[in-house]
Amino acid sequence: MIILLTGTPGVGKTVVAKRFSEKYGFKYFDLNEYSKKFIIAYDESRDTNIVDIDKLRNEIYKEIDPSMNYIIDGHISHFLNGDFVIVLRLNPEILYERLLSRGYNLRKILENMESEILDVCLSESIEIHGMDKVFEIDVTGKDVEDICDTIYRIINEENFRKKYIPGKIDWLENYYHLIEKLRRELGGD
Ligand code: ADP
Ligand code: MG
Repeated sequence: MIILLTGTPGVGKTVVAKRFSEKYGFKYFDLNEYSKKFIIAYDESRDTNIVDIDKLRNEIYKEIDPSMNYIIDGHISHFLNGDFVIVLRLNPEILYERLLSRGYNLRKILENMESEILDVCLSESIEIHGMDKVFEIDVTGKDVEDICDTIYRIINEENFRKKYIPGKIDWLENYYHLIEKLRRELGGD
């Protein structure tokens, strides 16, 4: 089985994926590290590397042993094939603090805040995989053990997973002002 663990940078994917792999015997796959091999350009204005996703998709399965279970950690993991897509969601105010303490510049913080508030990872996941294998978890205020157990139950319990069907989390109404505030701070647009 392959779990694709996705979400905006800062929501807690790496911490959760590593703990999940220890706790439930899944292999941890670091997609951020692996995707470095497929960087084709650097976007200076966004301080982001552009990855050749098609090539990555063609190569990665050579690294994967089909007899093992994997949790794949990365904000582009939903572009891969897998059995479940788990999207971690985090209250934008907390995300803002985490990105700030990571030392991201304002433009990068704005980009990631927009991504979280506008459901980018979630909507891309649904567009690629449909509704049946995509689930979202609001991890705000949850500890890592609890998040891992929730993922485990989603993949194993049909009834339990219904609570995590996409569409229940809506940051837009209450947090759009954060995007506007950041845009003002950046000056212009
Ligand atoms: P991502 O891999 O999604 O970018 P990380 O796993 O690196 O995010 O987590 C970002 C930061 O948030 C880290 O400092 C981590 O310790 C903290 N963090 C992650 N998950 C939690 C959580 N459930 N509760 C409290 N802090 C968390
Ligand atoms: Mg990470």
